[in-house]
Amino acid sequence: MRKKIIAGNWKMNVKPSETAALVKAIAEAVKDVQNVDVVCCTPAIDVPAAVAACKGTNVHPGAENVHWEQSGAYTGEISTGMLLDAGAEYVIVGHSERRQYFGETDETVNKRARAAIAAGLVAIVCVGETLEERDAGKLVEVIERQMKTGLKDVTAADCAKLVIAYEPVWAIGTGRTATPDQAQEVHALIRKTLAGLVGAEAAETVRIQYGGSMKPGNAAELLAKPDIDGGLIGGAALKADSFAAIIAAAK
Ligand code: PEP
Repeated sequence: MRKKIIAGNWKMNVKPSETAALVKAIAEAVKDVQNVDVVCCTPAIDVPAAVAACKGTNVHPGAENVHWEQSGAYTGEISTGMLLDAGAEYVIVGHSERRQYFGETDETVNKRARAAIAAGLVAIVCVGETLEERDAGKLVEVIERQMKTGLKDVTAADCAKLVIAYEPVWAIGTGRTATPDQAQEVHALIRKTLAGLVGAEAAETVRIQYGGSMKPGNAAELLAKPDIDGGLIGGAALKADSFAAIIAAAK
């Protein structure tokens, strides 16, 4: 049995001064939840406030990106050591917005994921096709390429620190959700591809989240599918009540 994991991706939305209030409201709403891992991935500048607010709760702090080098002349970047020092436990890697707007490639996703896992962070590695790719019949090819290159040299032992998020790009922030059957089909493909990389036993242990307009109204039917082990939530993670309602659907 894989423990469900619901993670919020705050994107560029919450200021440091607003962070504690949101985390505390979420923590209060989910204080009795034990069988779901609850994570808030925040902008790096919010991480210290999120870490402080998460203390003593069952909410875990995370970040939205990380660099693979430990230190040096990488203006604007943040290392795994910095995130760990601040108290982060999770980090999103390869979100489609990083790929689309900031030149992220499968190769850099791989460097970030391996650095995060080696440092002891849990890497939430995002994959997902665009609408053009889906319509052109390239879904399988794209997912396999993102998995094989993005997770190159990730081992079975690393799987304890690995979460994969399937986020169809056409469903992110659009209000358009993949149907549970569409999502399950890709989640099964992801697990099969992962099994080819790390072995079937390790692949069975890895949680695969769905992300893309998941909300209280559609979470339960998505989360009922056998290979959908959680959600990566954008818009609905910015309000404690909607985030908590999704977590309740995962319980
Ligand atoms: C995301 O950005 O990871 C996401 C899934 O966003 P939304 O829930 O708003 O579609």
